[in-house]
Amino acid sequence: MADVIFFPIPPWSDRESPWKNSNRALGRLIAHHRNDLKAARSLAEAIRSQLMSLFGLMDDLCRNCCPWCPDPCCILNKVWFDFRDLLFFHLLELPIPPAQLNCGDRQACRYLSHHGCRIPRIIRPWACTRYICGTQTRHLARLNTAPGSRLHQTIETIGRLRIDLENSVHQVCVTNRRENAARQS
Ligand code: SF4
Ligand code: SF4
Repeated sequence: MADVIFFPIPPWSDRESPWKNSNRALGRLIAHHRNDLKAARSLAEAIRSQLMSLFGLMDDLCRNCCPWCPDPCCILNKVWFDFRDLLFFHLLELPIPPAQLNCGDRQACRYLSHHGCRIPRIIRPWACTRYICGTQTRHLARLNTAPGSRLHQTIETIGRLRIDLENSVHQVCVTNRRENAARQS
């Protein structure tokens, strides 16, 4: 993974070139190891299926809470696409968003429109998907316990799968590098 540029926080912000170069490099890396990444792709599929199971409930939450919000999180919060998001997109060949989110102070996210987020849920940052604000938590509590507890369980499951996904890709890269080094020695 040597030529993929990673930053702890916030990666690739406000600069087009690192974002595009890193995605190109990641795309090449995934293509290069395609045959060895079956387990990682299965994990990505599992994440997709878990994510999709949440979208109906999340649409309801947004419809009921967001239009009247005095402090919209898409303006106030600092979030970004992370490495696991990008791995997920590349492994499933999902469209890659054109740029990193804005990470500046009190700057509205570049993907925010008057009608909410402009990018499909499946390619939003995990940081956005997993964020359930106080208003939404109270709304869930008023409904009944079932949707809320299912939501939190699924968020935990996806979090674990994302770690497994990164570990799985990392393991493939390390094994390949060792095998190449052994062949050359
Ligand atoms: S998710 Fe919560 S904080 Fe964000 S816009 Fe909706 S109600 Fe406001
Ligand atoms: S990507 Fe979408 S959900 Fe996330 S901060 Fe930007 S507008 Fe909000």
